[in-house]
Amino acid sequence: MSFDGDLTRSTAAALAAAIKGGDVTAAEVTQAHLDRIAKVDEKVHAFLHVDTEGALAKAAEVDAKRARGEQLGPLAGVPLALKDVFTTKGVPTTCGSKMLQGWVPPYDATVTRRLREADVVILGKTNMDEFAMGSSTENSAYGVTHNPWDLSRIPGGSGGGSSASLAAFEAPLAIGTDTGGSIRQPASVTGTVGVKPTYGGVSRYGLVAFSSSLDQGGPCARTVLDAALLHAAIAGHDPMDSTSIDLPVPDVVGAAKLADVKGMRIGVVKQFDGDGYQDGVRQRFHESVDLLRELGATIVEVDCPSFDYALPAYYLIAPSECSSNLARFDAMRYGLRVGDDGVNGVEEVTSLSREAGFGPEVKRRIMLGTYALSSGYYDAYYGSAQQVRTLIMRDFDRAFADVDVLVSPTTPTTAFKIGERADDPMAMYLADLCTIPSNMAGNAGMSIPVGLAPEDGLPVGLQIIAPAMADDRLYRVGSAVEAALNGKWGRPLIQEVPSL
Ligand code: GLN
Repeated sequence: MSFDGDLTRSTAAALAAAIKGGDVTAAEVTQAHLDRIAKVDEKVHAFLHVDTEGALAKAAEVDAKRARGEQLGPLAGVPLALKDVFTTKGVPTTCGSKMLQGWVPPYDATVTRRLREADVVILGKTNMDEFAMGSSTENSAYGVTHNPWDLSRIPGGSGGGSSASLAAFEAPLAIGTDTGGSIRQPASVTGTVGVKPTYGGVSRYGLVAFSSSLDQGGPCARTVLDAALLHAAIAGHDPMDSTSIDLPVPDVVGAAKLADVKGMRIGVVKQFDGDGYQDGVRQRFHESVDLLRELGATIVEVDCPSFDYALPAYYLIAPSECSSNLARFDAMRYGLRVGDDGVNGVEEVTSLSREAGFGPEVKRRIMLGTYALSSGYYDAYYGSAQQVRTLIMRDFDRAFADVDVLVSPTTPTTAFKIGERADDPMAMYLADLCTIPSNMAGNAGMSIPVGLAPEDGLPVGLQIIAPAMADDRLYRVGSAVEAALNGKWGRPLIQEVPSL
């Protein structure tokens, strides 16, 4: 093997190039990551299921392709960690829930299929808050995931397993889903890159639904370019998803290579600053804004008054949709079945199974949603929340008439301690304060690491938001900041992650 350096510390782009160039085999790359998982995942618990056999078989297939002289794609042979909310044919899919314990899907999600077609090596399925409801991965029925920066802290949620796998160098690429922030918030608190593409930009077929009008799958990585390569691999129209956008995917890879913000207009959202934001988060955020100015962007302050209502409106819309989506878990078609003793009727079995299969947060959301949708309350709750959604879209429209992208901190604080917010749902919900508006409007958002908070030494994320189908702008801005910061810190920020 003539690859220079530790395979698990490499970028996806470098690994793909090394495999293509014959410096290393896909089998060696995969084995190095499987070894790393075996070494550290007992402490991190990023994975719910490691598919050793499937990963090595895929790697062997890539090596055989190369040996036959076939053209390899831009991510061929690169390992990836897949959030356990995407169906994988023949590989367990639990959504972090007891309800789906032991379920092995008979089909691949479109994202899964595209990854396979791109010759990406799927290492396994990552831990998550049950049915993607949460901000800390503490709501998983299979135990918490630990933040590799400090094992006593949360890795964010709901996609904490995916983000932790990147920060722990168990995988160079991962996939998440973002309904209210579950890609960007975990990226922020683990010092990694996470992108929520434009709603409809990545197919939802085979993504187990939480809140269908908000859910969006997207790429997670340690660098902006790696995220772009993954974005390009999974995005694009899919006739199997009726909300999939039938337009060409923006040139995210080209934009990531451009790394230039000269002449861009960048809006700082007035609402996302001040009280409630940790000092070190504000400090790194303001430094990032200064940096963007130095790099040649024009900075303007932008007022989005309706954003103040985004969180309450989200906690009506998301639970309402989830109460309907999760009705399918009736113990008849798939998943857990409790009380099927030949005496209990269908309704009793359904109700016993849902009682046993769903955790407290999922039950809370189903009750909230059912209440909000009941006749007599519909206009007061769900209807009003939808009106707020329209106001949020209008704020974005006004802002984007003047600026190319918006920026804010990704999360108000750095990673909090495991257990700290477990009994306080409101405090937990606040973690998504800055990310939720983009889900409500369906536009695109990214989080990139911009340094560590001086008071606790933990990663801080910068959020970049672009209009729908202008996802390329995220990559243009993100890569420019990344390049400038790596110059400043003398090394990629992610390389600072403490020892495991
Ligand atoms: N934390 C938010 C929630 O609990 C967002 C979750 C997500 O994006 N999947 O709903």
